[in-house]
Amino acid sequence: MYRDWKVPLPADVRVEYDVPASRLTTIGAGGRVAAVVSVESAALAEQVCSTLLQEGISLVVVGRGSNLLIADSGYDGVMVRFLASEPDIIHEGEVLDVSAGSRTDDVARCAVELGLAGLEFAAGLPGSVGGAVWGNAGGFGSDMSKVTESARILEPDGRVSWWEAAALGFGYRESALQHKPGILLRVRLRLPAGDRGQIRRRREAILEDRRNRFPDWRRHANAGCFFRNPPGLHAAVLIERAGARTRSKGGARVWERHVGFIVRERPGCTAADILSLGLQIAEDVRRHFGVDLLPEVRFLGDFGDLLPPRWRAWNSVKIIEPV
Ligand SMILES: Cc1cc2nc3c(=O)[nH]c(=O)nc-3n(C[C@H](O)[C@H](O)[C@H](O)COP(=O)(O)OP(=O)(O)OC[C@H]3O[C@@H](n4cnc5c(N)ncnc54)[C@H](O)[C@@H]3O)c2cc1C
Repeated sequence: MYRDWKVPLPADVRVEYDVPASRLTTIGAGGRVAAVVSVESAALAEQVCSTLLQEGISLVVVGRGSNLLIADSGYDGVMVRFLASEPDIIHEGEVLDVSAGSRTDDVARCAVELGLAGLEFAAGLPGSVGGAVWGNAGGFGSDMSKVTESARILEPDGRVSWWEAAALGFGYRESALQHKPGILLRVRLRLPAGDRGQIRRRREAILEDRRNRFPDWRRHANAGCFFRNPPGLHAAVLIERAGARTRSKGGARVWERHVGFIVRERPGCTAADILSLGLQIAEDVRRHFGVDLLPEVRFLGDFGDLLPPRWRAWNSVKIIEPV
């Protein structure tokens, strides 16, 4: 149906149909997305999303798809992919005003060059700044809530405004946008000036640690840590102690150097294999410790009865509906 669209999108916007998940996510499994609109700049993201919503079309917005699992039956809707090949950064003293489509690692690298501290934790973090703020991405002792001053948001009714950090409602891997849908267009990061050499050394140490422990998604497709840490506990420690380190399903298996990751080792591996393995690991942990793990990965599309209602309610990608 989307091929017959009469939506007045700008001429330089790329629309593709029936796009396979392998082109949209780092884990690559799953089916096809009916229509994908790719935008590189915040101005185009705003124009395209407002137009679609005004035309009564629901949409989902994604960045690099590095925290995303698409169902094997795909997603019969519109995806706006907001990801820039070049970072768009306005530097004003200790503030970086960046497009939400900029890649987080590009911004983190730029901060080092400018001698600004605080974004080293995001060294090597795959994905866009929008995705990072939406999920309050973090690690290595920090997260996006510590550096985000405000964000420019398009709301489903067409309003565009800057939300201060308090309104962004950050929590552990959480932001207000998971409950009140909105599209991140730009983000202001406040990063204090520091010693460039020290900042660079910290960035390199974190990159090294990531290389040693985390699977490189280009060779071992994955969507980041599958589970969030339960309060006061480490998901990876629970998984290890529950004996789930050697678990596998279809072409999906636990990554031994960091058992929080599920990697997809074979092209035939389905989204259902990955989700089933996640469920098996969660069951191992529940049986051993009585702790219910919740996923960090986001789900898009219809997984049928395989996706437990709690996981669906908690972790489905938010569909932005016209008002
Ligand atoms: C190898 C590897 C290592 C990783 N390491 C970490 C880590 O250390 N810490 C960590 O927290 N995560 C990690 N991740 C997960 C992931 O990279 C981050 O969560 C990342 O910030 C997601 O960004 P994205 O652009 O890929 O988001 P996507 O996966 O594209 O989207 C994630 C969610 O954000 C929403 N979203 C994206 N952009 C926008 C926007 N502009 N407006 C509104 N909503 C939006 C989507 O709708 C979706 O619900 C890792 C992933 C991989 C593959």
